Amino acid sequence: MTSNIVFIGLGNMGLPMAQNLARAGHAVTGFDLMPASVQQFVAGGGLSADDQAAAIAAADIVITMLPASRHVQGAYLGEGGILAHAKAGALLIDCSTIAPDVSREVAAAASARGLRMIDAPVSGGTAGAAGGTLTFMVGGAEADLASARPLLEQMGKNIFHAGPSGSGQTVKICNNMLLGILMIGTSEAIRLGVANGLDPKVVSDVMAKSSGRNWTLEVYNPCPGVAENVPAARDYAGGFGVDLMLKDLGLAVESAGASGASVPLGELARQLYDLHSKSGAGGLDFSSIYKLATPT
Ligand code: NAD
Repeated sequence: MTSNIVFIGLGNMGLPMAQNLARAGHAVTGFDLMPASVQQFVAGGGLSADDQAAAIAAADIVITMLPASRHVQGAYLGEGGILAHAKAGALLIDCSTIAPDVSREVAAAASARGLRMIDAPVSGGTAGAAGGTLTFMVGGAEADLASARPLLEQMGKNIFHAGPSGSGQTVKICNNMLLGILMIGTSEAIRLGVANGLDPKVVSDVMAKSSGRNWTLEVYNPCPGVAENVPAARDYAGGFGVDLMLKDLGLAVESAGASGASVPLGELARQLYDLHSKSGAGGLDFSSIYKLATPT
């Protein structure tokens, strides 16, 4: 079955996700603040429209893939936003990584207007978005996930129901805290080998078959020259921004504070990403933290 979909946020992740839905035969109308992103979407078979409110009013499904909590609040709750225009029974899917509390706030406001909403943040990076192999971590009602599932399967491979509204965000934050820590650890280990005269590819290959193996080492190696088709191979352009990782580590530390969980490494990772961002690297891919680990 094909649907009439509005997709808001055509960035590093949203563009390939929306393209996969358009390729699957859905009528997907894309919106982004950057006209160039919309043009790229249209060139690849997507639709555009001048009137966002009218497009939302006509949509069966609205998907958002925005940077942070405030963008999601603005898009859904703002005057002229999604909740004000979506038709009764429409299904709203927020794939952005945001604060669980904000997810719950927006979902409750949607429910009060007779709209169904799930939080469905993702993991798998831009390659997973392009390849349709993302992992979705869903919070919300079982029945709403059942409605969304066929669509999520056109963008991803693993779809998990984490629990009620906001739970998808909570598990996503746990994952990204671990990811941030692992990326720093992998960078430090490779640097140590290089500083002792080893080839970083040899160090990486050996660790990938040893107990230090992990995703940042094997799939997303941060050291230039070790792997192809990763941000480190293109001066850390594209991918998952340092400032987005910093946001996620902030959410993790905040959530730990509120729940009493002890996350000293998460806090240290947040401080290191903050330092890296302040050095001017905020727009680079998060694997550029390798540079911070580089002695100058
Ligand atoms: P991005 O910055 O590349 O894209 C976000 C897009 O949203 C931008 O193009 C921006 O112009 C647009 N935007 C912002 N406000 C808007 C609005 N009101 N209306 C329309 N468009 C608007 O970010 P991204 O890397 O695509 O990440 C999106 C979300 O996914 C973030 O929450 C991020 O944490 C999460 N995420 C990213 C990755 C990754 O590898 N990049 C992986 C998993 C999850």
